Amino acid sequence: MHGGAGDLRHIRVLAQARHRGPDRPVVDLVAVDVTSEHAEIDLLRRSMENLRLIVEYNPQLPWIADAEGRIIDFTDRWLENTGLERDEAAGSGWLSATHPDDVEPVTQRVAHSHATGEPFDVRVRLMVNDQYRWMRAQAYPRRDDEGRIIRWYGYTEDIHESVLIEEQIRWNADHDSLTELPNRAMFNACLDKALGRALTDFKKVGVFLLDIDNFKDVNDLMGHHAGDDLLKSFAARLKAIFAGEGVVARLGGDEFAILIENADNRQQLADLADRALTIRETLFAAGRSLECRVSVGVAAFPEDGRVATELLRHADLALYRAKSLGRGRVQMFEQSLLEDMQERVAMINRARTAVRDGTIISYYQPKVSLQTGELVGFEALLRWRDSCGTIRSPAEIYAAFDDHDVADMIGQTMTSQVFSDMAAWRARGLAVGHVAINVSSAELRRERFAGRLIETMERFSIAPDSIEIEITEGVFLGAGSDAVRRSIDELHMCNIPLALDDFGTGFASLTHLRSLPVSTLKIDRSFVSGVTARESDGAIVSALITLGRALNMKVVAEGVEEADQSIRLREMGCDYAQGFYFSRPAPSETIPALIQSWSENSAVISLNRRAVPRSSLGRGGEGWAGSRIA
Ligand code: C2E
Ligand code: CA
Ligand code: CA
Repeated sequence: MHGGAGDLRHIRVLAQARHRGPDRPVVDLVAVDVTSEHAEIDLLRRSMENLRLIVEYNPQLPWIADAEGRIIDFTDRWLENTGLERDEAAGSGWLSATHPDDVEPVTQRVAHSHATGEPFDVRVRLMVNDQYRWMRAQAYPRRDDEGRIIRWYGYTEDIHESVLIEEQIRWNADHDSLTELPNRAMFNACLDKALGRALTDFKKVGVFLLDIDNFKDVNDLMGHHAGDDLLKSFAARLKAIFAGEGVVARLGGDEFAILIENADNRQQLADLADRALTIRETLFAAGRSLECRVSVGVAAFPEDGRVATELLRHADLALYRAKSLGRGRVQMFEQSLLEDMQERVAMINRARTAVRDGTIISYYQPKVSLQTGELVGFEALLRWRDSCGTIRSPAEIYAAFDDHDVADMIGQTMTSQVFSDMAAWRARGLAVGHVAINVSSAELRRERFAGRLIETMERFSIAPDSIEIEITEGVFLGAGSDAVRRSIDELHMCNIPLALDDFGTGFASLTHLRSLPVSTLKIDRSFVSGVTARESDGAIVSALITLGRALNMKVVAEGVEEADQSIRLREMGCDYAQGFYFSRPAPSETIPALIQSWSENSAVISLNRRAVPRSSLGRGGEGWAGSRIA
């Protein structure tokens, strides 16, 4: 015997009875040490138990199939999960728990593996606890010595959660989560496909770009929640309006796009686009109401562009035009928009060059008191010198006044120049009065507009009340009107007077007049020029003067060209006037002489009951417009 003393051994005892006699049985005993055999059996049992538990606790459900792929063995958990009975689940019974859409592809894949012996790996939805869940089934063949497949060993794994996450990620990649609409990437993909189809079926494809008017105001005034709600409701309305007609997508911000296929002609596209205009929403918050409508730009394949990028660019140009024409409208792309855009770009470049080369200069047009004939101040007007040295009007760089960066550079150049001129005239003891400066909405939208202006004024020791800022009502149109409003309030807080320019041509809304800190109203030339000739113009001018006075504002008539107009305006009670009749805008070097001759003549003027004698006024005005002043 092996083993040391005190070891416990497993001994198998074999006994055999032998008969020595009837009453004397004899038993032979044989003792066999089976300790090691016992240990092996124990090991085997434990390993079986381990395997059982591995299977039991494994989230994967193993199974075995015969050479033909009929399932011959599986765990109880498989039955528990699928709710099938053992005999139902055997063979190909699992197919009855498979999602109907998956039966065909998965049987094909399994058949392929059985035919080729390739392991298989499929995704399939199985009914588990009364709901379909995504499963992954994999199986590997076992072959006999001759290489024939005798068994398939497989397992099925619940991958439902990860499939859902995967689907979500894929969905997010081409959808906008706020509105649940397709995003820009998906829209572009759809557009590319649509253009491919249109090449062969000779139909038109329409690209609509939509933008919610006043959206930024909703966000700024009513908060982002209101903005989000508005976007969601617009998305839902668009989806309903264009259901079955095309793809509605959100490209970002408040920009939506619609893709229309199979159109026969442009008119059909225009009519469809018109439908978007039916969306109007009025939001109320903090005692204000905001009306939100849409502007739409439309470009059509093939005439407006043959590739997606071109169509989108042209629809965008049309949208830009729709918005600048006053919003809430549809604009089809047309070639002239491209020309306008090129002209705008040329204007901005001209202005940028002028700023860079230092060829921007300020001219000054006198502002006159109609009651006393005195010179009360000037309006600074931009001029620029072209490469030939010719002085040119702002009309050729107009678009730059709307350009975020260039407008700001122009503004800084003009203000420094005006303040430096004013400081120089003051130093010579000249009574300049106040100088009005035109400011565009792009400038007012800039951060710290007022703060920077004050800093420049301080550099030249210019007092706030010796200037005036001219704005038009247009500054409140378009994006950023809240920033404009902020700048205007800041100017007011700094005691810088404000004038409302071109009054009567814009919205002439009393809301603006009442809510703005405006001290001067400038009546547009278009009314003034007809003040004596046309009764209606006379009536309008008279009404505007009365309105201005009622609101305690000074009234300036612009563009007075004739003595009769000046007389009529004075009779109507208009305070001040500007115009070629008194003087054309003139360069700074001529201003000291102009101021001097004006004060010398003021005695004569004040005695003159009829009007300001124009012969005594207007020296050195610009000649490019064909001066009528001697
Ligand atoms: P605005 O502010 O309405 O300026 C008055 C315009 O009328 C000036 O044109 C002036 O030369 C012209 N004008 C004055 N009196 C008469 C008249 O009796 N008859 C006629 N037919 N015209 C008269 P201008 O200088 O060509 O300026 C055009 C516009 O350009 C200005 O209109 C203003 O909106 C803009 N602008 C001019 N300078 C600046 C500037 O420095 N900054 C900005 N943002 N805009 C400017
Ligand atoms: Ca002006
Ligand atoms: Ca004006």
